[in-house]
Amino acid sequence: MTDSARAVKLAAMSEMILGIDLGTTNSAVGVVDSGFPILLANEEGRRITPSAVWIGKDGSVEVGAKALRRRALEPERVVTSIKRLMGRRTSEVEENFPVQVTAGADGSPRVLGKSPEEISAEILLEMKRIAEWRMGAEITKAVITVPAYFHDAQRAATKRAGELAGLEVVRILNEPTAAALAYGLDKLGEKARVAVYDLGGGTFDLSILEMQDGVFQVLATHGDTRLGGDDLDALILDCVLERAAIGEIDLAARVRLMAEAERVKLALSDEEVAVFRVPFYDGSRSLEEPVTRADLEKLASPWIARTLRLCRQALADAALQPEDLSAVVVVGGSTRMPAVRRAVGELFGREPDISQHPDEAIALGATIQGGVLSGALRQMILLDVTPLSLGIETFGGLMNVLIPRNTTIPCKAGEMFTNAADGQAAMRVRVLQGEREMAKDNWELGSFDVRFSPSPKGQARVGVQFKIDENGILEALARDVSTGVDTVIRIESAAVDVDDAAVEAMVSESVEHAFTDMAERVFTEAKMKAEELLPAVEAVLAQGLALDDERGDIESAAAAVRVALAGGAANPLKSAVQRLDSATEALAARLVEQALDAALDRKLSGE
Ligand code: AMP
Repeated sequence: MTDSARAVKLAAMSEMILGIDLGTTNSAVGVVDSGFPILLANEEGRRITPSAVWIGKDGSVEVGAKALRRRALEPERVVTSIKRLMGRRTSEVEENFPVQVTAGADGSPRVLGKSPEEISAEILLEMKRIAEWRMGAEITKAVITVPAYFHDAQRAATKRAGELAGLEVVRILNEPTAAALAYGLDKLGEKARVAVYDLGGGTFDLSILEMQDGVFQVLATHGDTRLGGDDLDALILDCVLERAAIGEIDLAARVRLMAEAERVKLALSDEEVAVFRVPFYDGSRSLEEPVTRADLEKLASPWIARTLRLCRQALADAALQPEDLSAVVVVGGSTRMPAVRRAVGELFGREPDISQHPDEAIALGATIQGGVLSGALRQMILLDVTPLSLGIETFGGLMNVLIPRNTTIPCKAGEMFTNAADGQAAMRVRVLQGEREMAKDNWELGSFDVRFSPSPKGQARVGVQFKIDENGILEALARDVSTGVDTVIRIESAAVDVDDAAVEAMVSESVEHAFTDMAERVFTEAKMKAEELLPAVEAVLAQGLALDDERGDIESAAAAVRVALAGGAANPLKSAVQRLDSATEALAARLVEQALDAALDRKLSGE
């Protein structure tokens, strides 16, 4: 090859965009080559590489099967399931994480002295290396998938991991959306509505998408970032330990036993009985317990039920019945379990579609998206949605939604706000995510103060705008309209001091609490109105401005508002406020008219 020919080839290659599935258990990488999305095999000839990282005492690193092989000798130096720590704080790390987690200076978790991003970066670096080795060229751009339910800090951490690995992350793509892209690749001419049920090692996601003529629109998405096959391994282990009456075990023994629990689980997808067998698991004791498929299914039943609940919510969000769907595509390693397939089939009233490779569909979808972005594939466009509503807290502790859940992204929305008190010189903007009516029940992503010149109540004008980019990362901007000064925060820091379990619970809780939440909102709104009306009415009455025939009505309506306020119930307060409002309507109109006349008189008399 001449030098100039090589230069041309490298230039063309540099446009390639990798598609990477950075999974809890396994990872995979692909690229569009000559118009076809393909996954690239590692040196062992496998398109799937375990997401395992061995970190030696001298700092050297090995990734994949090589790392797992080191487990027998150095279990404490082999990190798996690192995805579970991405974008989390140490206080959120679940018990039984397979390796020891310590707290960094900033409260973020550290494993063997490294951050979750740095460890994930090692996996991404390995993916990049495999791709460059297979393609014979340097590749610096990637699409990386994350669970649809990954929140902002987790997405941002994934992006940072990519950057640490020398990759420009051109898109963060939701995993079920990626699976739907893979599913839709050979069905471009058709109109279809599909649900993608993705149950992997660490997370569960359910998305409902509509596709037509190569355009994919996500209609609804639900999931749980802490629900996956790993939990089932832990349940199997607990059950076996209980049967064998074994109490405390140390971390190293636990790691070995968890690996055996997973092996037993996999075996039970094909067989009726498997023997849980670990000789000398703690150096002296051995463990041997038969486990049946029926045992496993009993343990798995509540775990599967949790996924079904989220499926029902997604259907309700998309306002669809199971029969409105053309297919239910299952992906993720855990959907190989017969019990999972059966339950999905029953809920959706049809056989699940298993045409997609459970371990490869997501990487394939990411690869397709990479191809679309690089221009190598032109037939597909993807419209993604926000998984949870975004808004700010307003006076009275209410959630004011700016971007409702399931809005197509990228998107932008804004609203104008004002000061609630006289002389107020700053406003705290609390950026919230969640489905509950009251701010306190939602999740705070961040907050900042907007300063403005002190002004009478209702005079300041602050515009708040939310912008979500194509990666699902949020930028919140507040503008003091009188000065034009902007305050902006980009919400991508990992410093989200909220227990994440609350996030997952939130969507189901919002349904559960819909009635009481709404009552609380109605009460708060009516209370704010009452607190504004009552002093004004009292002042007007004291000045004797009411006519005799309206006075009695106004007084009794005001008294009813006071009683309803003390009573604390939403609807009676709302009606009492409405009654006071209409009782004072004529009076208010007269007062406004008089004020206008007075102003006109002053103007005419040249004051
Ligand atoms: P993923 O995150 O999609 O790679 O899925 C990995 C999860 O799938 C792990 O928890 C595996 O134990 C689980 N898994 C893989 N194969 C099977 C199988 N045949 N039966 C049950 N679970 C499986």
